[in-house]
Amino acid sequence: MGQAHKLDCESAAADCRFIIQSENEDEAVELARNHMKEVHGTDYTDDELRSEHLQVV
Ligand SMILES: [Zn+2]
Repeated sequence: MGQAHKLDCESAAADCRFIIQSENEDEAVELARNHMKEVHGTDYTDDELRSEHLQVV
């Protein structure tokens, strides 16, 4: 099994329970970016998501 890339949105937005987990980093980043924009109205760059929000598990 490879590493998985995980976004636990609860750490970014206390009232959100959204979790993304994917072995494909590009997919995880894209899903995370779409979620942040559509649900929270916040634009993050891929680099911000990778460095600040995505965890490797
Ligand atoms: Zn969220």
